[in-house]
Amino acid sequence: MKNNSKPLDIMSFKNSGLKLYDIQPEECRKPLVISDENTNWRPHIKRLFEFDPRPIYDRINEESLLNPYMRQCTVSISFLFPKVKGICSCGCGKVLEGRRTRWASDDCEHFARAVFSIISGYSDSIRTYRSLFLGDGWIHCEICGPDSFREQIELDHIFPVKFGGGGGWLSNYQFKCKTCHRKKTNADFGFKQKTKNIQGFSLDNISIHL
Ligand SMILES: [Zn+2]
Ligand SMILES: [Zn+2]
Repeated sequence: MKNNSKPLDIMSFKNSGLKLYDIQPEECRKPLVISDENTNWRPHIKRLFEFDPRPIYDRINEESLLNPYMRQCTVSISFLFPKVKGICSCGCGKVLEGRRTRWASDDCEHFARAVFSIISGYSDSIRTYRSLFLGDGWIHCEICGPDSFREQIELDHIFPVKFGGGGGWLSNYQFKCKTCHRKKTNADFGFKQKTKNIQGFSLDNISIHL
């Protein structure tokens, strides 16, 4: 494994000849496991949680369009959901009616944009969908459980971006309290972070230099 302190830019990634699947484990792209019926989900949220993103990732892999070493990736919505004449782009198969030129319904568009924002690594969207998925009314550490709510909760890439876990599905994200997050990061990178760096530690703004 290459030991870069900086993530590869997309051209260097493409030129390296590496593909997404050479780098990321299956966990980064697997669909979520829905444990119980949550009737409060809006239709596009329910569809998002039941969605198997692997066919999309297969195409991304072929084209090397997504840079898995970046937290935020550039992959276009029109690549993820190509326009089909007269048919909804979201994959639902519905015929476009009236003035609609791309999405058969608002739910179709919301669904497609949600998929796009997750794969693109927009952390606000990922936080929102992950917390809706947990369905507990507040965000808590997924390691220590609901008692952790007093601590600041951070969003963790289970398979780290540093090793190619960027651009993964919701299944590659987990909420962790600072303590669990620090333990996990130390285990991933094989070193202890200095205590003074722990304040405000978040995978959205930290840069780790090995
Ligand atoms: Zn549709
Ligand atoms: Zn915890």
